Amino acid sequence: MRIGEDNFDFQNEGMKMGIEFKRRLQQTTILDPQREYQEKTLTLETRWDPLTKRTARVLDLPIRKLDRLDMDEFLGRAGDVQCPFCSDSLEKLTPRFTGDFIQGGKFQFGEVCVFPNRLLFDKYCAVTVLTETHHVPLSDFTEELLFNGFSTAQVFLRRVVEVDSTVRFFSINWNYLPMSGGSVIHPHFQIIGGELPTNHQWELILGGRNYQRRWRKSYWDELILKEKELGERYIGAVGNTVWLTSYAPRGFVDIMAIFRERRSIIDLSDQDLRDFSLGLIKAFHYFHDFNHYSFNLTLYSGEYNQGDSFWVNARIVTRRFLPPVGASDVSYFEKLHGETIGYKNPERLCEEMRGYF
Ligand SMILES: [Zn+2]
Repeated sequence: MRIGEDNFDFQNEGMKMGIEFKRRLQQTTILDPQREYQEKTLTLETRWDPLTKRTARVLDLPIRKLDRLDMDEFLGRAGDVQCPFCSDSLEKLTPRFTGDFIQGGKFQFGEVCVFPNRLLFDKYCAVTVLTETHHVPLSDFTEELLFNGFSTAQVFLRRVVEVDSTVRFFSINWNYLPMSGGSVIHPHFQIIGGELPTNHQWELILGGRNYQRRWRKSYWDELILKEKELGERYIGAVGNTVWLTSYAPRGFVDIMAIFRERRSIIDLSDQDLRDFSLGLIKAFHYFHDFNHYSFNLTLYSGEYNQGDSFWVNARIVTRRFLPPVGASDVSYFEKLHGETIGYKNPERLCEEMRGYF
């Protein structure tokens, strides 16, 4: 085996901007059993996230579409488990907030319902059930359904910061279907808020703070400018939201949505949430057409009331079981090395997704 190395680090000479798209290629040669053991060169690309400087590995597999999965069969396996978020159970089995915090014990808006999570992942931890429908395939989500969910989650967070001034960090999160870690099929968000950030949320906040200190500009503003100028990962804009493929991917499909000039989820207008919901619907159409069935989503907020140059942003990473035995797509890399693997070049992904925006 021969190991070669090429360094493709980008220099920012002459650029009045701190965004750096750094990457490195490493190659090795193997003898390929599928080609009578002739030599074959394999390439690994390592990319540094331009904000957090964390590395991600990109194996640009020559696959356009993933194989179809029989989702009816897959979801049918959970058929006998009673769903806690279908209407009957929701009324009888789900916890409620105390009356001094939220009158009536829960927030209800149309079919959307916000109530406490049984498991306390943060000081405030709520579930937002989006609809009375037990399973909504990606192709059936509507802008209205998502908007109602996000705006009700936002009302909850507004109440949290109103009653508890120690809460400085919060986010809205979504594990869609069990492949992404979702333990209930029924569509629901998890809202978390408390005194401590998660690791990645803190990296975003600190990274943005450091960038502002050094370059006197908002990192997210500069990222949008740079990505638009390069045109390689800029998917498009929907109103006040800008959609990009992530330079250092954390999964099969990894996309970002950035809300211009918004520091906190609390600050988002109804129109911002409608823009985001519509952008998600466009992304879902791509996921559906390219056989991505499941995803993780987080909507990150900056540290509340700190006056940072943080811009609210979302990250959506698709998840799936790996053939042929249905293995998890999270392995020792993610669990024990804090390293992520992407299987498609973000620039190729952007080309595919652009037609949907
Ligand atoms: Zn249900």
